[in-house]
Amino acid sequence: MNSKYNVNEKGFYGDFGGAFIPEMLYPNVEKLRQQYLSITAEQSFQDEFKALLKDYVGRPTPLYYAKRLSEQFNAKIYLKREDLCHTGAHKINNTIGQILLAKRLGKTRIIAETGAGQHGVATATVCALMGLQCIVYMGEVDIERQAPNVARMKMLGAEVRPATSGSKTLKDATNEAIRDWISNPEDTFYIIGSVVGPHPYPDMVARFQSVISEEIKSQLLEKENRENPDYVIACVGGGSNAAGAFYHFLDEENVKLIAVEAAGKGIDSGESAATSVLGKIGIIHGSKTLLMQTNDGQITEPYSISAGLDYPGVGPMHANLYQTQRAEFIAITDDDAMQSGIELAQTEGIIPAIETAHAFAVLKHKKFEPNDIVIINLSGRGDKDLNTYINYFKL
Ligand SMILES: *Cc1c(COP(=O)(O)O)cnc(C)c1O
Repeated sequence: MNSKYNVNEKGFYGDFGGAFIPEMLYPNVEKLRQQYLSITAEQSFQDEFKALLKDYVGRPTPLYYAKRLSEQFNAKIYLKREDLCHTGAHKINNTIGQILLAKRLGKTRIIAETGAGQHGVATATVCALMGLQCIVYMGEVDIERQAPNVARMKMLGAEVRPATSGSKTLKDATNEAIRDWISNPEDTFYIIGSVVGPHPYPDMVARFQSVISEEIKSQLLEKENRENPDYVIACVGGGSNAAGAFYHFLDEENVKLIAVEAAGKGIDSGESAATSVLGKIGIIHGSKTLLMQTNDGQITEPYSISAGLDYPGVGPMHANLYQTQRAEFIAITDDDAMQSGIELAQTEGIIPAIETAHAFAVLKHKKFEPNDIVIINLSGRGDKDLNTYINYFKL
């Protein structure tokens, strides 16, 4: 696609992106780069991908007109129901795409890293579906914090390997996964869970998730007789659900895009994950992007009450959307998000993931016109977060 907001031939979004990887990984990443577009364009790939999205994931997900929310905020608010996907969030769209690609590349062993465990579960799910070996790296601290997801992965047949170095969290798990990939270049495919990592991963993941905005267009045409909304709002951890919801609107400059980051306890509190505001250019996970770091370039540990937004960087597409101001970036605190989560539950009968609740908090901070069509990407359901809700509200 010839777009200032999409990836160029060299793998960059403006100043961001690229593939900054160890020499040993080059052949693997290069082979993927050369083949991902042709393989995913094949009719047999498209047929299998679409059939699984339909009958296994449950797509198309509904575009739901939220009547009570619309009355409350005086705009036409639609919710894109990714929470209704199999496994409870958008992440499965991408893992299905990548495992089909891995199979066509002749790979038999799948590795992944996970922080909160959601991507680990989505990966373990598709490995079970395809009968492939699955190894998920996870920080030792995260293994303790996210016990239910660890149990899910094990039940699905995956091996969960603890990362015991550094802060024992996501970035350490990523290092372990990359080390594994270097040692097993022939048979192993690395499934990355967001629009991060070396080129072509951000573009590949964005394409797999772009089914979200493709569906929004046709659903909105049916409901409102127009393809383009006035606003699309999505939360951003690495940025994959936002990339999917924005994708087909990137060049439609009259569609306003709002990316919602986690402010944690406040942008200036020292406990935050508002990467675009706090981040500086650096390299993380093989990609040049905005990331939170100390003056001498050490990655800082992010903080958010929602485990899925707790990432020290942001994908290169979003770094560029921030820099070019194509998207507006808004940071929402823990308290604000939690309040919006319980309000959505009691206004529409939908308990959102806490990640997603950040996107809803924007409704209180933005002024809309009564005829504005506002789409919120409801990236996931809140079942996994029930304990956090219970402790926070003393339910
Ligand atoms: C993982 C996750 C996110 C954050 O990841 P992105 O790549 O930014 O989409 C957001 N919402 C839910 C429900 C998640 O599971």
